[in-house]
Amino acid sequence: MNRAPFWNPVLETLDREKLRHLQLKKFKRIFKWAYDNSRFHRQLYDQARIGPEDIRDFEDIRNVPKVEKSMMRGIQRKDPFPYGDILCVPLEQVTTFRQTSGTTGQPVYQADTWQDWEWWSECWSYILWAQGYRPSDRVFLPFGYNVFVAFWAAHYAAEKLGCEVVPGGVLDTQARILKIQEVNATALMATPTYILGMADTAKQKMNIDPAALGINKITCAGEPGASIPSTKKRMQEAWNARVYDHAGATEIGAWSFECMAQPGGMHVNEAFFLVEIEDPETGDIIEEYGRRGNMVITALDRIAQPCVRFDAKDIIEWDSATCDCGRTFRLIKGGVVGRADDITKVKGVLLAPSAIEDVVRSIDGLGDEYEVVVDKLGDVDRIKIKVEIAPGHEDQAKHIEATLKDRLRLKTNLGYRIEFYDYGRLPKYDVKAKRFKDLRKH
Ligand SMILES: [Zn+2]
Repeated sequence: MNRAPFWNPVLETLDREKLRHLQLKKFKRIFKWAYDNSRFHRQLYDQARIGPEDIRDFEDIRNVPKVEKSMMRGIQRKDPFPYGDILCVPLEQVTTFRQTSGTTGQPVYQADTWQDWEWWSECWSYILWAQGYRPSDRVFLPFGYNVFVAFWAAHYAAEKLGCEVVPGGVLDTQARILKIQEVNATALMATPTYILGMADTAKQKMNIDPAALGINKITCAGEPGASIPSTKKRMQEAWNARVYDHAGATEIGAWSFECMAQPGGMHVNEAFFLVEIEDPETGDIIEEYGRRGNMVITALDRIAQPCVRFDAKDIIEWDSATCDCGRTFRLIKGGVVGRADDITKVKGVLLAPSAIEDVVRSIDGLGDEYEVVVDKLGDVDRIKIKVEIAPGHEDQAKHIEATLKDRLRLKTNLGYRIEFYDYGRLPKYDVKAKRFKDLRKH
């Protein structure tokens, strides 16, 4: 079969009506599966007086109660241990244990069967093929191979595509860079923070130009950076490579990806996921373009621990554009534009941290690291940004400060205090960065 340019030429170009029909059919199936096999789901649905026979169309799906991460915490660490009442298969069928990082509380455990794990790698195959991965690629994976799902399924998918995979698990950053150089790797996957950090280590500590290493494509995950224009530009220039975004989560799966057309957003893999966008004020489902809301997502084929109308806390909006790549999967504009938990009000203005990142990274004389601190003086909110001057730009501090203040005000409607630090003084993050500190909450 000639796949190019699609991994699955049938599903990725299916006309919208058929695609929606497929989603509805699959939703009914996974809803019934969860209802019949998960005591957790059955109790939730019985309380809402909704059962499998009540789902006839997409309107009916909107009446299905959402599941939040906090609800999962309450049922876990009980039999069948440690997954509890949500497990839909006998424990003997579980082949894969993963867990969430637990940054916002107790971790959530995630069970997968071998069928689920094959589904994971199939989802990732769509992503990698769409981003130009082919059997001739040698893919370097610099992540900790441990209990977090991270790029595990990407590893399996790259092998499934026929790529050669080089696992860079326990190596430190410098050893990883040397390994990339030694084996002539062509592709790389990591968080944006790590991609930028690796480039910086290569340049500053090893006198190696990452742009000369021969990496031609990079797949990002874990943070929105690859969809933030100025961060994407920094990564692409540092590595002389095309940088693509992807979004996924332990409890959901690998649900979206940027394609080679780089349309300024990501496709939702609608053959495997149903994405709904909910207005946070009214609870209405948003179908039109250009209105942001909370993502509610269903993994249509995952069986051990189903993900049915999961409230992912991701903020997204539909894009009106059809993509040049020819896929009929809808686009979300600008990727995941924020997390519901991160969007905060400062001086009465809604602020998404990704907007600040886009501005900071758009200024040439600034390093990659920065920090945002919000606090209160009396009753008044204050917001401060700590930035580093990049080597060789020290004499431009005044000009940089003025530019930064102007661009931030234009983009976010807020005034900021700027604090400069010498290069290398701000905390360096290895994998996922925590740059936004809201001291008002303590
Ligand atoms: Zn596309």
